[in-house]
Amino acid sequence: MKALSLLLLLIAVQPRSADLGESLVYPTPSSQTTLTIQCPPEEAAYCSEIEHLAERPEIRRAFEYIEATDDDALRDLIMLTEIPAPPFKEEVRAKKYAEMLLEAGADSVYIDEVGNVIALRRGRGGGENRVVAIVGHLDTVFPEGTDVTVTERGDTLFAPGIADDTRGLIAVLYTLKAMEHVGLRTDADLLFIGSVGEEGLGDLRGMKHLFREGGPRIDAMIAVDGTNDNRVVAKALGSRRYRVTFKGPGGHSWGAFGGGNPAHALGRAIRIFDEAAAAFTEAGARTSYNVGRIGGGTSVNSIPFEAWMEVDMRSEDQTRLLTIDSIFQAAMHQALVEQNGMVRRGEELSLDLDLIGDRPSGENDPNTPLLLRAQATIRHFGGRPNIQRSSTDSNIPISLGIPAVTLGGGGVSGGAHSPGEWWINRDAYRAVQKLLLVLSAEAGLSPTP
Ligand SMILES: [Zn+2]
Repeated sequence: MKALSLLLLLIAVQPRSADLGESLVYPTPSSQTTLTIQCPPEEAAYCSEIEHLAERPEIRRAFEYIEATDDDALRDLIMLTEIPAPPFKEEVRAKKYAEMLLEAGADSVYIDEVGNVIALRRGRGGGENRVVAIVGHLDTVFPEGTDVTVTERGDTLFAPGIADDTRGLIAVLYTLKAMEHVGLRTDADLLFIGSVGEEGLGDLRGMKHLFREGGPRIDAMIAVDGTNDNRVVAKALGSRRYRVTFKGPGGHSWGAFGGGNPAHALGRAIRIFDEAAAAFTEAGARTSYNVGRIGGGTSVNSIPFEAWMEVDMRSEDQTRLLTIDSIFQAAMHQALVEQNGMVRRGEELSLDLDLIGDRPSGENDPNTPLLLRAQATIRHFGGRPNIQRSSTDSNIPISLGIPAVTLGGGGVSGGAHSPGEWWINRDAYRAVQKLLLVLSAEAGLSPTP
């Protein structure tokens, strides 16, 4: 117990800063006893699996390779960051990433119908192998024309998309390179993937295509996104997003007075929805809603011919997500009916509801081996796993009951989704070692002869 209290004290006095999050806690790997103490009973089997795996000579050699090629990884990160990948325009970066995966030693690489880059590394079995995938996303949130040149100030690299998620792509690539370098043979087949459409209106279209009916077999998936070393996204935050448009004939505010007014309908719709949704979200699994943008109209003295809004709804729970969605739809239709009841002349108003975002919710079972392996590996590196709920590529497999976690790609970063995005190479290679360890454990290595 003395060892434990000493360890806790050491953790407690570690300096903290907002930028560094949880990632500072790195006891040296030599302090093996403290690692054993830190592993809770329900994870014990996986902690010991990971400890044994980490001792194997081929894994140690892979770790050495990852540390030794840290400068190459940095050079590749800068090169790939400077290839723009705006939403729905990931092709140029995808082509380059496919070349890099092939050069790294993948058995085959292809770009699928929606633009995902998929590299296969065969396992030792025949055609019946399990398949484990590891994924970084190709797309950024930044529109075409954004300057993506990487600039350096001290040890900090600045560029839109450098951390989210170009670093993830590099971590996936170097996991493959390390496996190839030491000739690591896994039981399962591995897929190394650069996905499209992770961000915003991309609406996870890469993952939706990958996990479509009749798509390639995937039994478990690791998404690499963000840079927090301790974060394990194991729960999917689902969302439904709509663009709502009320339309009418429009007209002069004096001359056509009495005609249907889309702006009035919009205001009514927001009030009806807000009241019903506020009551619904007061209790139960956390659920949110937001009218994020509104617009329309021509001038102060014109009846608008159109008024629109964009609405975002989220829930931890898929059933509640669908329920708030039906509350929303009912509110829009009620507003239309009520507003049309007030039209004194001319055409009635119409309503368009366009679903512009649909991300499912879900959770891994806490006893899922992949999840326990991810936690045990974080402990192996001296961290404390922090299970989180978020919206990432893992949403899709999780919602289908396929084990999936999202882990950090290494380094320290900030300003994601802003032009000031930055990344610092602080022990980033350790995240690649972590990914290699989790992936190897999940894919299975046959016993050393
Ligand atoms: Zn991301």
